[in-house]
Amino acid sequence: MKSFFHKPTFKVDDIISYAELVAVENTNVQKGMNFQIRPEYSIFLMSVRKNAPYEDEWDEKTNTLIYEGHDAFSNWVKKPKEVDQPLTTPNGTLTENGKFFIAAQSYKMSLVKEPHKIKVYEKIKEGIWCYKGFFNLVDAKIVNTGKRNVFKFYLKPVEFISKKKEVELPHSRLIPASVKVEVWARDKGKCVKCGSTENLHFDHDLPYSKGGTSLTAENVRILCMKCNLSKSGKILSLPPIFLS
Ligand SMILES: [Zn+2]
Repeated sequence: MKSFFHKPTFKVDDIISYAELVAVENTNVQKGMNFQIRPEYSIFLMSVRKNAPYEDEWDEKTNTLIYEGHDAFSNWVKKPKEVDQPLTTPNGTLTENGKFFIAAQSYKMSLVKEPHKIKVYEKIKEGIWCYKGFFNLVDAKIVNTGKRNVFKFYLKPVEFISKKKEVELPHSRLIPASVKVEVWARDKGKCVKCGSTENLHFDHDLPYSKGGTSLTAENVRILCMKCNLSKSGKILSLPPIFLS
């Protein structure tokens, strides 16, 4: 297991620009689904905003992120939204849907020991992204919407507490996108303490350990890294991106 699993460069709920995302991943992430962008993990970009192109959703009961597969490219078919999402390309190679589908089925059938790891970044608004952490790809299905077949990928949030041990991250620790959008607008994209617009993070006013919920905007605010550190009194090892 590589060290970045327990030393992520971003912390969950860090607010980042697209340039920072690219700097950390060391590559242009341009597609929504990026299978094995590194040998150890893949990347999903997601958006749960009203006008988002795909219907990604949280299932709060099962603590699962349900990520919709992607449509055929418009140079393959005339109306991508009206035909089944493809498993293969016109050349017969697997699409990203196909690669993730097989990875999920392989895990379900115990052909591989470990579920496939996916890092998720969420778009809050144009140019503003949020890091959501690592997820395990535990299942994939082809679902009929009444009009066509689409892929659904089922992801469980995980936290690495040591090199070898991971635990499921409770849903209450993940701030929903709707709350982030509301907090971003209310706090005007700035640290509420010092007004900084750099190294921002969605902060829980009341720590989870004291019963703070992340499900409402009242308990979430924007803090910069400096104010966040002085609040907690902790010295954290700074990710390299913040040291330049
Ligand atoms: Zn600040």
